[in-house]
Amino acid sequence: MQPSHFLSSQWKPLSSTIVKVQGCHRYSLMRKTRRSGSARQDKPDAILHGRHRFSLVFELGASAALLIAALITINGWHVWQTYHSALAKSQTATMNLTQALSQHASDTFSQAEATLAELARQIDTLGAGAAQRPRLHQLFQQKAQGLKQIGAISLFDDAGHMIVTEADHLPAVNNYADRDYFIYHRDHPELTLRIGNVVRSRMTHQLIVPISRRLNHSDGSFAGVVLESIMLDHFRNFYTRFMISDDSTLMMLLNNGTVLYRHPYDEKIIGTTIAGSPLYQDNIRQNHSGIVTSVLSADPEQKVYSYTHLKQYPVIVTTGLSLDQTMSDWRQDAFNHAVMTLIFVVMITTVCLLLMRQVRARMRAEQELIHAQRELRTLNRSLEKLARSDGLTGLYNRRHFDLALDNEFKRAMQSRRELGLILLDVDYFKQFNDLYGHVAGDECLRLIGQTLHNLPLRHRDLVARYGGEEFIILLPDTDRAGTLAAAQRIRQGIIQLNIPHEGSPTGILTSSLGVFVGLPVAGQDTPTRLVVKADSALYQAKRQGRNQICQA
Ligand code: GH3
Ligand code: MG
Ligand code: MG
Repeated sequence: MQPSHFLSSQWKPLSSTIVKVQGCHRYSLMRKTRRSGSARQDKPDAILHGRHRFSLVFELGASAALLIAALITINGWHVWQTYHSALAKSQTATMNLTQALSQHASDTFSQAEATLAELARQIDTLGAGAAQRPRLHQLFQQKAQGLKQIGAISLFDDAGHMIVTEADHLPAVNNYADRDYFIYHRDHPELTLRIGNVVRSRMTHQLIVPISRRLNHSDGSFAGVVLESIMLDHFRNFYTRFMISDDSTLMMLLNNGTVLYRHPYDEKIIGTTIAGSPLYQDNIRQNHSGIVTSVLSADPEQKVYSYTHLKQYPVIVTTGLSLDQTMSDWRQDAFNHAVMTLIFVVMITTVCLLLMRQVRARMRAEQELIHAQRELRTLNRSLEKLARSDGLTGLYNRRHFDLALDNEFKRAMQSRRELGLILLDVDYFKQFNDLYGHVAGDECLRLIGQTLHNLPLRHRDLVARYGGEEFIILLPDTDRAGTLAAAQRIRQGIIQLNIPHEGSPTGILTSSLGVFVGLPVAGQDTPTRLVVKADSALYQAKRQGRNQICQA
């Protein structure tokens, strides 16, 4: 039998009597909001351990991911920027080198051109007959001594015989009709300068660049060729001045792609052609000058090439700086950044994972705590129930009644409404025990309790076991008539139980009831006094013969 059945909605908190344990504050708050409040309180717990936990872990993960993304973006952007600036720097460096080589080649060829032009004029003026040859020999010698890059200066007649040279003696085998430059001039009427492929001198056995021009008779027919050979060492000496890595190249080419000179020096490459390479086909052949990252067929390594055609001569100079070499600083920098980024990413990930673990552990601990709190709440509820109920009848006990009476007493004073109180005592119960035993007595009390519990009372009415075989009924806002009617029903209800009691004059178990109805008087009445009044009425009922109701 549950006391709450009677008074569930009127029942007031007993927080002062609840066992105080950790987390009790929240608990007592919950009690104040009545039973429905506990359900409401459970909801935030669920949120804390579901959505909140998920969102906290998610926020941590998202923040770390954002941080990592920002780090990678910033470093990627830096690496990208530095790549382009390093590339621009290497392009500038290669273009500067090309400009220096172009200037040097131009100067060399224009000097040769000027020399050949002057010699041609002198030959035209003096003639090249046997009488003039000593004079021309002297002239050739003077020119050759003035410019140290000159390997030889020679004059060939229309049959390819060398007739004058700057050297003291003409060569023993003295026919050059098979030389490219001779054949070219013989077959081409132009009097322009020709720069030929590198050949080995028959007199000095050195590699030379032959620079030649045609000579005409006064009637315009072919008279011979004047030749100035530039020693390849002249270019070699100049090109070796530049400090470039072994995998970089400096080159001087004829317009058709034939190599005149290449640094680093390799004799086997002199005279070969790069005409088939993408560098030549797609760039050198198409443009006057430019910068490109490309490869040569002979050299698969990527290089930053710059090239330019000489303005006045059919010659190209090109510089190829190894991309690998020029970008090595950038690569080191990029590597350092990548390592740093990786370290930070690992650090952020580790910290994030540790934090996530801690959050999860904390959440788990909190969940366990909440679980413990729930169990404690349930325990408290049962303790509370025990603390306010009577073990034998299941009705409220005296302790709870006292508190309820206190409240109703105050309420009646405030509302100025009457309060009814019925005190019931079982008649001749000692004899009942003596006759039928204590167990039967207990059963009897249980039946009486059930009868009282089944009474059609209002929600604020309260029935309690006052002690021994005494029961008390509190009827707030009830007038005399109502209280007496309730008392009558109670008395009849016990009679109707029809419990045989041979010790009683009536033969069955009966009860006596003392009734008090009234408005508590301020400063005069107390809750106890009301009970005392009801008790006096009960006493009177006993005195008058029992099994009756008396009013105070
Ligand atoms: P009266 O008509 O004047 O009330 O006589 P009475 O015998 O009922 O009164 P008394 O106060 O002398 O006796 C009360 C008896 O109730 C005494 C005790 O044995 C019995 N009693 C009190 N509590 C319990 C209980 O829990 N169980 C049982 N079986 N008996 C109880
Ligand atoms: Mg008694
Ligand atoms: Mg009695």
